[in-house]
Amino acid sequence: MSNIVAIVGRPNVGKSTLFNRMIQRREAIVDSVAGVTRDRNYGKSEWNGREFSVIDTGGYVRGSDDVFEAEIRKQVELAIDEADVILFVVDVEEGITPMDEEVAKLLRKVTKPVLLGVNKVDNAMREKDAVEFYNLGLGEYVTFASTSGSGTGELLDALIDIF
Ligand code: GDP
Ligand code: MG
Repeated sequence: MSNIVAIVGRPNVGKSTLFNRMIQRREAIVDSVAGVTRDRNYGKSEWNGREFSVIDTGGYVRGSDDVFEAEIRKQVELAIDEADVILFVVDVEEGITPMDEEVAKLLRKVTKPVLLGVNKVDNAMREKDAVEFYNLGLGEYVTFASTSGSGTGELLDALIDIF
């Protein structure tokens, strides 16, 4: 089984909330390195009978914006190496931030498939707000809300189509 999706994005966009929802009722495989270096979670998921692995990146970073940026860059590069599909999560509540633009710049160069996911789309107004993410230059996006689960079925459909 080699379908691996890595969830990347700046802190606080809802990556871990989405990860936990995706691996619901499944065993989370937390890597064994303890403490602050433990910055990735691995889990297994299944949708429409298709199994795949999920990597949640970037949990325990502390420090200045520069440290954040270097760390996120490292996470994205690792994800590009390890994953078959990269799920880039952004947050409609905050809109596009400079860090999102940095990540998008890295991802525009990769040959692996990238799925852009706009999270925190809790209502119809936010659905409209999401159009600004076309400006990231990554094409189409899917919208969802990780906390309620709204739209996450469509997100999983889109992922399965890519595998
Ligand atoms: P991460 O740093 O990217 O892993 O983000 P987290 O999963 O830790 O979530 C950051 C914050 O965003 C938490 O307070 C979540 O409850 C919140 N959040 C996540 N998904 C949603 C959503 O769909 N809607 C709203 N309104 N908040 C969300
Ligand atoms: Mg997290």
